Amino acid sequence: MELKLYNTLTRTKEAFRPLDPSRVRMYVCGPTVYDFAHIGNARPLIVFDVLYRLLRHLYGPDHVKYVRNVTDVDDKINARAAERGVPIRELTEETYNNFKEDVAALGCLPPDVEPRATDHIEEMKTLIERLRAADFAYIAEDHVLFHVAAMPDYGKLAHRTLDEMMAGARVEVAPYKRDPMDFVLWKPSKPGEPAWPSPCGIKTPGRPGWHIECSAMSWKHLGETFDIHGGGIDLVFPHHENELAQSRSAFHTKIMAQFWMHNGFLQVEGEKMSKSLGNFVTIRELLADWPGEAIRLAMLQSHYRQPINWTEAGLREAKRTLDHWQSLTADAKPGMLCADMIDALADDLNTPKAFAALHELRSEAAKGAKGAAACLKAGAQIMGLLQPTAAEWAAWRPASLAIDEAGINKLIDARNAARKAKKFKESDRIRDELAAMGVELEDRKDGTTSWKVKKVA
Ligand code: AMP
Ligand code: ZN
Repeated sequence: MELKLYNTLTRTKEAFRPLDPSRVRMYVCGPTVYDFAHIGNARPLIVFDVLYRLLRHLYGPDHVKYVRNVTDVDDKINARAAERGVPIRELTEETYNNFKEDVAALGCLPPDVEPRATDHIEEMKTLIERLRAADFAYIAEDHVLFHVAAMPDYGKLAHRTLDEMMAGARVEVAPYKRDPMDFVLWKPSKPGEPAWPSPCGIKTPGRPGWHIECSAMSWKHLGETFDIHGGGIDLVFPHHENELAQSRSAFHTKIMAQFWMHNGFLQVEGEKMSKSLGNFVTIRELLADWPGEAIRLAMLQSHYRQPINWTEAGLREAKRTLDHWQSLTADAKPGMLCADMIDALADDLNTPKAFAALHELRSEAAKGAKGAAACLKAGAQIMGLLQPTAAEWAAWRPASLAIDEAGINKLIDARNAARKAKKFKESDRIRDELAAMGVELEDRKDGTTSWKVKKVA
C-alpha cells in the first residue's frame, strides 16, 4: 500500500515520500481568533485530522509532527476588540478557548504544536531582514514589501501568470508599491493598534502582514522545508503563494512544502454561507443540536477536494448511521483494520470509498459475522469515529434537552425549604417550574424527594 496525495503544486496525485520518514511534518493554517469558528472552518480541521491520524498509523505516532497556528494579530481582531470594548488579548484568549472546545467536540486530536503569531514576532523579523538583505523586499513609507518580480516563478502554486493574478485578485493599490502585486511583510501601526519595534531600521513601531506569520511559524517548528502544507482552497492565492515566495526566497530552497493540499468549500443548503443570507452556522450552534461525531461523519461523506452541500438531512443520516454502528459495536474491541478501508484512505483520503468498506462490514456485523464488528470499530476509529463508548453515546442529549442535574437539585432543595416554611404557593411554583423542564417529582415518606426525567419521544 502506497500513500498517494493530490498536490495542488503539480495538479496531480503523487506518491507521498516524506523528506524524513522518521519525522513526517505537516503545517495547516489555523484560525484567526476573533469570533466563533463556523461550519466551513470545521472542514479543514476534520479533513487534516483524518490525514494526521492516517500518517500516525502509517509512520508511527512519534514520527509525525502536526503544527496548526493561531492568528492572534489581525485587523479583524483589532476591529472586534474595539467594537466590544475589550482588550485584544482578552478577545483572542476567549476565542481561542472556545475554538479548542469546538475542535475537541468534533473528535479532532490536538496538533503537536499550536503556535501563536504574537509569540513569533522575532522570527518574522529575522525572515523580513533576510528578504530585505537578499533584495526580495524593499522599504517604502515605513512598510516592508515583498517584490514579486524578484521571484521568477511567482504564481507557480496558483498556476497563474502575473497578469491573471492581477485581474483575479483584489490587489490593494498603494502609491508606495513598486508593483501592484507586491505584498506587505510589515506595516506601521496606528496609535492604539498592536505594535512592535520594526525591522530593517524602520523607526515607527509596526506589525506583521498575515503571510509572514506562517513562514515564520512553520520554519520555527518544522524547519526550512517540510512535507505537507494544508488549508482551504481559498488560501491557495494569495496566502499560500505568498508564504511559499517568502520561505523559498529567505532560505534559497526549491520548495517550502513538498505537498500542498486544499479542501473544497462548504455551502449550506445549496447556498454560499453568509451572515446576510442568514445561513451562517457556527460549530458551537451545531454542537447544541448534534453530537460532534455526527458533524464529523457528515463532513467526511464527501471527498475532501469536492465542494460540500451541508444539509440537515445529511446530519440526520449521519446520526442514524452512528446509532447503528454504536449498537453493533457496543461490546466489540477494535480489531483488524480491513485492507479496503486503509487502501481507500491512502488513495488521496478517499473517505466516501472508506465508508463503503465500513458499510460492508456493518452488513456483515448485522448478520452476526464473527470479527466484523471489531473491524468496523477499528476502521471507524482510524477516522476519529466511534470514540465515545456506547453508554456515552446513548446519554447524549441536545442542549435544549440536556439535564442540568445540579440545577434541578438546587430547585428541589428550595422547594423542600419552602414546604418546611409552609410557603406552599412558592413550593407549588417550583414544582411547576420543574415539571416544565420535564422533571417529575416523587415525595418520599422519609421526607426526601426523588426525581426522574419524563421520556422524550
Ligand atoms: P479563515 O478563518 O477564513 O482564515 O478560515 C480558516 C480555515 O477555514 C481556512 O483553511 C479556510 O480555507 C477554511 N474555510 C473557510 N471557509 C470555508 C468554507 N466555507 N468551506 C471550507 N473551508 C473553509
Ligand atoms: Zn498560513
